[in-house]
Amino acid sequence: MKREEILDWLKEESDEKLGALWSRADAVRAEQVGSEVHLRGLIEVSNHCVRRCAYCGINADNTRIQRYRMTEDEIMACVRKAVAFGYGTVILQAGEDYSISTAFVSRVIRRIKSETQLAVSLGLGERPAKELTAWRKAGADRYFLRFETSDPSLYERVHPSLPRRRSDRLATLRKLKELGYEAGSGVMLGIPGQTYASLADDLDLFKALDLDMVGVGPYIRHPDTPLGREEKSHKLLAGRNQVPNTELMTYKFVALARLLCPGVNIPTTSALASLNRETGYELGLSRGSNVIMPNLTPSQYRVLYEIYPAKAMASDSPEEFQARLSKRLKAMGRSIGKGPGGRKKC
Ligand code: SAH
Repeated sequence: MKREEILDWLKEESDEKLGALWSRADAVRAEQVGSEVHLRGLIEVSNHCVRRCAYCGINADNTRIQRYRMTEDEIMACVRKAVAFGYGTVILQAGEDYSISTAFVSRVIRRIKSETQLAVSLGLGERPAKELTAWRKAGADRYFLRFETSDPSLYERVHPSLPRRRSDRLATLRKLKELGYEAGSGVMLGIPGQTYASLADDLDLFKALDLDMVGVGPYIRHPDTPLGREEKSHKLLAGRNQVPNTELMTYKFVALARLLCPGVNIPTTSALASLNRETGYELGLSRGSNVIMPNLTPSQYRVLYEIYPAKAMASDSPEEFQARLSKRLKAMGRSIGKGPGGRKKC
């Protein structure tokens, strides 16, 4: 697809015309990754973080949240739920927390791999190559790190450098591929200052990085963050240049990601579902996506993992969510994926 066409789709507002984009994306999804929806159980193991990402509610400077770190036993209890629900993967996600040590994570990975059939996916931030190597050796299959935006000046604005930890997510993503991980990345849509041209570049970068998973969601303003404290429209671009952080924008981007990276796994994220609690998951799944990440984090911790306010289904127990999800998928004619559901080699 030519860049002009991509830009036209990103700006398209007509329901009728967009119908054609949704059906193209759905057809490519069906042909490339089939009708199975893979479920990955998300475990938010710690909300401690050393980074100062300007948009994120758990960034190091937010003194208004209570911090937690799950124990090995607590994590394993969630892992057993994933097995009981028939999921194929667990994702261990956290702020960039160095008190979750190399050895601790390696031990948890080894336990999951020896006690279950699950694939293990990590989302622990920009950890050093030595740790990524150790975790791969321990058996981790996938790693997820969004680059958030391919616009270098916007990236720097929202990811301030730390004294000895410059932020370079692209370098980490290349390292992950080199180490043999299935690598996932993605962006937020509608960050103040984000242009349509940069979204077209984001899609190019997904291809250039040869990603296995692409996850995107709308930027949601968090009042206790530097970006959230700025006057609402302060850094918004004038006219039609600013990308809106809407549900529609997210579907358009998901559909285009499916057309441009046909064989990748694409989740419908909870940030999207939080904008449309009734049908967000269904619409995402019928416009290109093929993965859902049900949250298995115990409720007392889940409320504290507040990267943005009012995360979708924050009050649902994993059991309630699972029961409802099965019904919803059946009603759509989609089946629940079996096994780890890694990237189909194309
Ligand atoms: N430390 C891990 C996990 C961070 S949370 C990591 O860096 O990968 C996972 C994702 O949540 C982030 O990559 C970001 O894209 C998203 N996120 C954070 N704050 C957000 C906000 N205010 N609105 C929407 N998404 C947000």
